[in-house]
Amino acid sequence: MLGIQGLSFQDINTLLDLADDYVDQNRQVDKKSSSLRGRTQINLFFEASTRTQSSFELAGKRLGADVMNMSVSTSAIKKGESLIDTAMTLNAMRPDLLVVRHPDSGAVALLSQKVGCGVVNAGDGTHEHPTQALLDALTIRRRLGRIEGLRIAVCGDILHSRVARSNIHLLTALGASVRVIGPPTLMPGGIEALGATAFTSMREGLEGCDVVMMLRIQMERMTGSFIPSTREYFHLYGLDYEKLAYAKPEALVMHPGPMNRGVEIDSLVADDVDRSLIREQVEMGVAVRMAVLDALSRHLPNQ
Ligand code: ASP
Repeated sequence: MLGIQGLSFQDINTLLDLADDYVDQNRQVDKKSSSLRGRTQINLFFEASTRTQSSFELAGKRLGADVMNMSVSTSAIKKGESLIDTAMTLNAMRPDLLVVRHPDSGAVALLSQKVGCGVVNAGDGTHEHPTQALLDALTIRRRLGRIEGLRIAVCGDILHSRVARSNIHLLTALGASVRVIGPPTLMPGGIEALGATAFTSMREGLEGCDVVMMLRIQMERMTGSFIPSTREYFHLYGLDYEKLAYAKPEALVMHPGPMNRGVEIDSLVADDVDRSLIREQVEMGVAVRMAVLDALSRHLPNQ
């Protein structure tokens, strides 16, 4: 599961339907089932994570797998071991599933060619974050009943966002019309080739939108100065009620987290229980990751 690109309409819907069932399971007292019983899952994170790592851990455990977490700060990667050597070492321990996050685009695909188990991309550089897009779609589908025909805006630091790329692939595949909005310095060339329409003005871009998805300003990936100041950025692109009013009256607000409050989103909007889906997104994250692990485990060679 390396990306949304290449998944069919049917693949995506099958995963979303399965995740829907897991939402119900996760709301019960007994949250466990056994489709991964006996399996070993390793979460290998070369980049920081709160939501993704913890939800993959819970997802594996709720499906009955033995789950091990490895992060850069505590592994031999600190001593200079390469990505492939680390992967080969873990592979020799016969895991069934590897969940990998890496700062370089394409690194997870490369690693997947060297190991004999199922691999899930938990975010590779600025390329893809497929389970984030799936959880976003599940959140929207559960609230609005559909994706097809919706107008959805993805706003902010498009250039550095794997979330934006995965969402453009997924939402367009399911028939939504996707707009990307951001300053010219954070708008990657050629983004429209992926099927989105680009805007540099929030007023124009948000017009008629059903969903407004905000993105974090990714300072850690910026090599130069892409924005004049966070204050000016908020003034032009930060989502407050004034800008939200450019969208449809009932438009919903999303953010993948972690949020920079007061930079890309105003706290009042983020915490508005009627308009913000941010907490639901986190809940859907566990269910979607259960669906992905479950589906993948059914295709393992030792199945
Ligand atoms: N958590 C998301 C990611 O890992 C979004 C972000 O970091 O801004 O891509």
